[in-house]
Amino acid sequence: MKLIFATNNQNKVAEVKAALTYGLEIITLKEAGINIDIPEPHNTLEENAREKANVIYNLTNQNCFSEDTGLEVVALNGEPGVRSARYAGDNANNKNNIALLLQNMQNIKERNAQFKTVISLMLNDVEYQFTGVCTGKIIQEEIGEMGFGYDAIFVPDGAKKTFAEMSMEEKNKYSHRKKALAKLIDFLNKHNGKS
Ligand code: IMP
Repeated sequence: MKLIFATNNQNKVAEVKAALTYGLEIITLKEAGINIDIPEPHNTLEENAREKANVIYNLTNQNCFSEDTGLEVVALNGEPGVRSARYAGDNANNKNNIALLLQNMQNIKERNAQFKTVISLMLNDVEYQFTGVCTGKIIQEEIGEMGFGYDAIFVPDGAKKTFAEMSMEEKNKYSHRKKALAKLIDFLNKHNGKS
């Protein structure tokens, strides 16, 4: 089965491709010849994921999925959450966002946080959503060079290093995105009568 993955984030594409099981082929926007900025105008991950999938579904008329992810920090009442990409401002990059988060947590001992991914699948005109969560801790400084986004300051529960110190395969043992993807794949297998 072929699905367009409605994202321009090549890190997400690489992680999803590394986690794929036999039977599902991902077509990137680039491979589909689509070059647009997909909007994220809403206040929840669920609505943003739906919006992204709808934009690409309406454009291509092909089955597709999108995802929206946020880092939710307990001591910051769930911030940056849906605003994770723009935490330090509309033009902020990963470094700016991490710097602001560490500054806002400077005197905070409670470091619990979670990544949450919502995948929205558009399949033959019907939308389905799948959620994956990875709990862990925000550390005091960046460690590691791999990954992207907030990976360098997040240690998942059960691990002794940050996501940015892990290969993609290792990150996928814990990752929010992988968990949501596993639910999507399970759904597709059942939908196609394979299990
Ligand atoms: P979005 O889902 O593309 O809107 O991403 C929201 C923000 O969270 C961006 O700043 C991403 O870089 C960051 N982000 C998304 N997924 C991950 C992840 O798996 N690890 C670390 N940061 C992430």
